[in-house]
Amino acid sequence: MTNTRERFHIPDGLIYLDGNSLGMLPKHVPARVQTTITEQWGERLIRGWNDGWSELPYQVGAKIAKLIGAKANEVIACDSTSINVYKMLLAAIKMRPDRRVIVSEIGNFPTDLYMAEGIANLLGGYELRFVEKQDLTNAIREDVAVVMLTEVDYKTGERLNMAAITKLAHDHGALCLWDLSHSAGAFPIELNNCNADFAVGCGYKYLNGGPGASAFVFVAERHQHDAVPALSGWLGHNAPFAFSPHYEAGPGMTRMIVGTPVVLSLVALNAALEIFEDTTMQELRQQSLALTDEFIKLTEPLREKYGFELLTPLAHEQRGSQVSLSSDNGYAIVQALIAANVIGDFRAPNIMRFGFTPLYLTLDDVRQAVQRFENIMSSQEYKKPEFQVRKAIT
Ligand SMILES: *Cc1c(COP(=O)(O)O)cnc(C)c1O
Repeated sequence: MTNTRERFHIPDGLIYLDGNSLGMLPKHVPARVQTTITEQWGERLIRGWNDGWSELPYQVGAKIAKLIGAKANEVIACDSTSINVYKMLLAAIKMRPDRRVIVSEIGNFPTDLYMAEGIANLLGGYELRFVEKQDLTNAIREDVAVVMLTEVDYKTGERLNMAAITKLAHDHGALCLWDLSHSAGAFPIELNNCNADFAVGCGYKYLNGGPGASAFVFVAERHQHDAVPALSGWLGHNAPFAFSPHYEAGPGMTRMIVGTPVVLSLVALNAALEIFEDTTMQELRQQSLALTDEFIKLTEPLREKYGFELLTPLAHEQRGSQVSLSSDNGYAIVQALIAANVIGDFRAPNIMRFGFTPLYLTLDDVRQAVQRFENIMSSQEYKKPEFQVRKAIT
């Protein structure tokens, strides 16, 4: 395994199992952002746009495209994941005007479901068919316009079969929108080999773009002409600086841009993505599976002794890059772990989530984390009152 770990700033003694919520800081990022501020913003001012700022959404998109099995001209970095779900879902719905059903999975990340609900309310007359994973096959029928799913379940870490579900959707005439928030940067994704139509994903999780980093969107080349942007902003226009009073969608992925890109944040993400050039997604997948396998193996005695349930599938092909355990004391245990410098997180009602970013975690991290976990359980440290108080962000 190439040593990509040394490219990250890792606080002393910290074992960070939350890269699925916010990736760690790459060491070279602060200087890049600093240069952009002092030399570009400070000295070049508005000229910065012509010096390269305008290209950032495309440049960053092309780098992400390599990680997700897409072509450089099929991905741009823009907006947040929530906004991009909205944009892509509406674009897809408009491409199936004779159909009135949106299928998703009831355990999907809430923002995805809320966006679909908002769109259904806006348009009127749409059915939201939100079902359990095992009922997806039944739910995907001839009346479905769009199937919208997140590849890896944020709670359990279960990974869906993108190729099979996309094919099923297409066989019934529906389009498929994939949310790659918990996939991009964690393992190889083959959007074009799966014949995916649309995808969105997050910049601050496994891509390490920093808090609030730009998200990304993918539109398969074959749909780029027909996908009409729901948010028809000026920078997605065919000729923004003609300042025409009428909207005309720009070419290719340009039309998926809404307004001014978040330059400072894109500079950080652009720099962070360079680390992926030191390795391959195959190599990262191997490391990720080694890490999650080890954690699952080493926590088995804990699971037996304390009655935790393993929520993450054992089969490699059904696993993302996280392991989740359930426990009624989950919140307090996670708080006690954080106090012991092992950062994971908690998802209501009872899920302890441990994310394993293969770029910077080692098997030794896993062993030490489980050791501290054992200590917290055997000493009953987690029962202390300070670990019972719920914070706003869990
Ligand atoms: C993290 C995540 C998001 C985040 O959306 P934001 O707009 O960045 O807050 C959306 N969808 C899924 C599936 C996620 O895991």
